[in-house]
Amino acid sequence: GKINDPGAADILRKLSEAGYEAYLVGGCVRDALLGKPIKDIDIATSALPEQVMRCFPRTVPTGLQHGTVTVVLKEGTYEVTTFRKEAAYEGFRRPTSVAYISDLTEDLKRRDFTMNAMAMDVDGTVMDPFAGQADLAAGVLRCVGAAEERFSEDALRMLRCVRFASTYGLDVEAATWQALLANAPLLRHIAMERVRSELQRMVDGPAPERAVRLLLASGLTAHFKRQLPLPFERWLAWDSALDAVSALDAQHDRWAMLLLLLETPADTVRKALQELTFSRADGLAVAGVLALREALAAAQAGLADPAPLERVWKLGAVRHGEATARALLRLLRVLPQPVDQRGELARWLVSAAPELARHGEDWLKQIPCFSLKQLAITGQDVAEALSKQPGPWMGQLLQDLLERTALGELTNVREALIEAAKAAAAAK
Ligand code: ATP
Ligand code: MG
Repeated sequence: GKINDPGAADILRKLSEAGYEAYLVGGCVRDALLGKPIKDIDIATSALPEQVMRCFPRTVPTGLQHGTVTVVLKEGTYEVTTFRKEAAYEGFRRPTSVAYISDLTEDLKRRDFTMNAMAMDVDGTVMDPFAGQADLAAGVLRCVGAAEERFSEDALRMLRCVRFASTYGLDVEAATWQALLANAPLLRHIAMERVRSELQRMVDGPAPERAVRLLLASGLTAHFKRQLPLPFERWLAWDSALDAVSALDAQHDRWAMLLLLLETPADTVRKALQELTFSRADGLAVAGVLALREALAAAQAGLADPAPLERVWKLGAVRHGEATARALLRLLRVLPQPVDQRGELARWLVSAAPELARHGEDWLKQIPCFSLKQLAITGQDVAEALSKQPGPWMGQLLQDLLERTALGELTNVREALIEAAKAAAAAK
């Protein structure tokens, strides 16, 4: 239960020698009591920020408006925050101004959940005025004080509630859950950036399916629909598929799987991810998997004489990239066969996915090149061979050559590709 961190112990000792109180607080105490690995160590003290800065040779005033000073030791960096209470909450978010106080219990009282409102001194003695240890032992997540107030003060706490309940496998205490249901609409006041960060930690955690179920049951999903127009309720129909999400290691794969199950056009999903402040690259990587799946389904469905899956797959892999194709295969490997086979996705999972899961990898191995860069011919070569000025026509021609090479109709050899380019130009 004790935190064996020489740097932190050193800080606690120095501050107390200087006449201040100082404790480890928050997540590190919780995780230590649970015997879990500790991520970052937060320290709370009665010393004012400038007094903290005087106690240590190397400090950085990283969050002075919150009373936080980062102490830099050879062992690492530590955030040291002055005991504080939060002044009036505004706009359903945590305030930017704080009032310093001298009492630890008051500082613990402003924290969100009882398990996050414990402190530990240098000897490992735990200060636990809100019975966080009892809640942890019972597997219960409970707000400090009146849940109704705590969620309306800061609506982000509702997402933290779902995050902690899912990642720590806790039951949300009844009054806390009731307050969450009542306050769910306040979520609209929270910046998308912070929503994303919480969602990412849920999706990354050990039980993303539990997070999804809690988000749906709490009504929180209904309230970010305005910014994210996605049919989250469709997750309800994919019970066992949700359980498969945690079998995927990569964060991108987990998002792709969850979003695939919403059966929404890839482009809508890409825009929603952008709204959620995902980077452009992340959004494209995740939505790309959906786009590839869509292209495969469309190519097969659109033809009177359906193209063989092998051909459709190879073309899709070249158009959407090898990484995207491999990501889709990883999803197919863990996705169970759907129970309800009415929707388009469900029908595709039953009809095409098994064959793709069996042969997709081998078919990818047969593709000699996935990009124009790897093609044994350049635009320059083509322009010279055809004695034409380079122009937009070239891109299309090269792409055709690439795709035919991928399909095995051409070999990736310069002379062969030049011949093919000439033949294509003559046929026009
Ligand atoms: P983790 O780092 O695993 O997310 P944590 O509990 O350390 O968990 P942080 O966001 O690092 O979470 O916050 C540190 C502490 O600050 C929390 O343990 C909690 O006491 C307090 N805290 C953080 N966010 C809030 C909030 N929105 N409302 C009230 N207290 C909060
Ligand atoms: Mg933390």
